[in-house]
Amino acid sequence: MRKLLAALILCHALPAAAQQPPPRPELRVERIAPGVAVLFGRGGNIGVSYGADGNILIDDQYAPATERVIAAVRTLDPDPIRYVLNTHWHGDHTGGNENLGRTGTVIVAHDNVRIRMTMAQVVRGERVPPSPSGALPVITFSEDLTFHLNGDDIRAIHVDHAHTDGDSLIYWTRANVLHMGDTFFNGLLPFIDLDSGGSIDGAIAAVETALGLANEETRIIPGHGPMARRADLVRYRDMLRSLRDSVARAIRQRRTLEQIKAMRLVDPFGLPDGFIARDSLIETIYLSLTRPPARGHR
Ligand SMILES: [Zn+2]
Repeated sequence: MRKLLAALILCHALPAAAQQPPPRPELRVERIAPGVAVLFGRGGNIGVSYGADGNILIDDQYAPATERVIAAVRTLDPDPIRYVLNTHWHGDHTGGNENLGRTGTVIVAHDNVRIRMTMAQVVRGERVPPSPSGALPVITFSEDLTFHLNGDDIRAIHVDHAHTDGDSLIYWTRANVLHMGDTFFNGLLPFIDLDSGGSIDGAIAAVETALGLANEETRIIPGHGPMARRADLVRYRDMLRSLRDSVARAIRQRRTLEQIKAMRLVDPFGLPDGFIARDSLIETIYLSLTRPPARGHR
């Protein structure tokens, strides 16, 4: 857990260009269904579809991890990585794009992922420079997209103004696996990136959409944290809803942000300060409820 938190702090606390994770990041491969695996390491969890039609990655962590990612995928299937689908633009999910693109991998993502990667962004107060052109998605979509590969229909479903304005949920309809990107932090306080168009209401709506896809058997891959089940996601949704409702009520009662922080609303959920501190989550929800989601791209 300590290690995971350290990795999370690294992945969002610094601009992408300044991020210098160790050159040989660890990667753990977990097969979760026939033809589906997850790579756990530094940065966002990577989903893999592997099989006769070629390999597809959901996210690709940081640039220094690419060689190990390729090696890990090779232990599953010898074919090249045909596609990478980015769940959103953050550097801990897209950092391997340029390296993989150079090997012939086609990069796919929602329209807003490409737009934000072409311009400087601000994440948690830190400026993130534009990505090199080789890292940009070459196929983009505005709503949904389906890969018909490896005996499955793998759907990318856009959920708007959630963790960012370019998030996709990825659902393997046959294998019954759901990759949530950063619309789900399992066992960690959530990060909602208001500067990238995220919002508390969209974050809740994204989880509702996911709950509509998942049943008790669904294997759920969070953006960060260990594998989860539907019940974990229900608890996460209930926490987000409860916090949103409590903060909204306090705003109606004309309480200040400082007064709302002093209410310690996050404490009952038993998630300690980590990459996201409890006060910072309350501030994010407060700001999200008092201003519209960011639309303009820097
Ligand atoms: Zn993220």
